Amino acid sequence: YSAKDRGLGVCVYDADLNEHSPERLGLLGELKRAIDTGELVLHYQPKVGLPGEDVRGVEALVRWEHPQRGTVPPAVFIPLAERTPLIRPLTRYVIDAALQQCAQWLAEGRSLHVAVNISARNLLDERFVDDVLEALARSQVPAHFLELEVTESAIMADPTRARAILGRLADLGITLSIDDFGAGYTSLAHLKDLPVHRLKIDRSFVSSMATDPSNALIVRSIVELGHNLGLSTVAEGVEDQDTWELLGRLGCDVAQGYHLCRPQPADVLAAWFDSVQSALPA
Ligand code: C2E
Ligand code: MG
Ligand code: MG
Ligand code: MG
Repeated sequence: YSAKDRGLGVCVYDADLNEHSPERLGLLGELKRAIDTGELVLHYQPKVGLPGEDVRGVEALVRWEHPQRGTVPPAVFIPLAERTPLIRPLTRYVIDAALQQCAQWLAEGRSLHVAVNISARNLLDERFVDDVLEALARSQVPAHFLELEVTESAIMADPTRARAILGRLADLGITLSIDDFGAGYTSLAHLKDLPVHRLKIDRSFVSSMATDPSNALIVRSIVELGHNLGLSTVAEGVEDQDTWELLGRLGCDVAQGYHLCRPQPADVLAAWFDSVQSALPA
């Protein structure tokens, strides 16, 4: 049971994350400040189309540049924030920063879609759709450049409500992806009724699929399921050339992973974009 699988209201005993542990309260207090002082920074990981190798967009992944602790990964602070109201300003900050960056890329002639991860609690918040609309208005970025990634467990925390909110977001023209697909428990009955556009196949199947035939079979089945439901498929965690080629043969639409590019700050990515651009056929 990973931290991100803890649904809202589900009480899971975990000594390190005990509600009242000084460590947890300390981190949360510092996180609150970090959102205002710019210690949260976004790295971006490209999503590359198969088999053409065109860059479709990027996923924004938050990091906390803590003055004493150094870089704190999201796996440490997102699960804490997700259980408190702090996830709202945090998500607003990330969406704002990602859309500002997207606006800058558009101004530079780079047509890149930007994906932001959202939490179960965002999806249950009445104000979330308005928060997104305000961020779009501030950035002047057309809604179709924004993608939101939601995990299965976030949807399953309240499927009826999630479907309603996702429907409003889809109506705005936002692209919706189910993140870490295959790792959760979305029933097919729910899946066919969800207004989503993409399945992101969980890394646990993808990263070893070139050497593990049963994982390759699972990935193939998810690609087929996605396509049969009219959804595009994205493989996350592509770590080697064999996996990249196998995904191409299986008809997966988009790939993401260390083999293609690690998540990087936008200024570092600029050089990568230029090198990829010149490698592509005119
Ligand atoms: P995710 O959305 O599934 O993001 C993919 C994670 O896999 C990222 O870890 C990424 O750096 C990592 N990754 C990408 N390619 C590879 C690969 O080839 N091999 C391996 N081993 N890993 C790869 P990261 O950045 O540490 O983020 C972890 C999770 O934290 C994310 O999983 C997402 O659930 C959450 N997260 C990150 N940023 C945000 C955010 O802004 N808001 C929310 N709510 N959650 C976030
Ligand atoms: Mg994601
Ligand atoms: Mg994922
Ligand atoms: Mg994942």
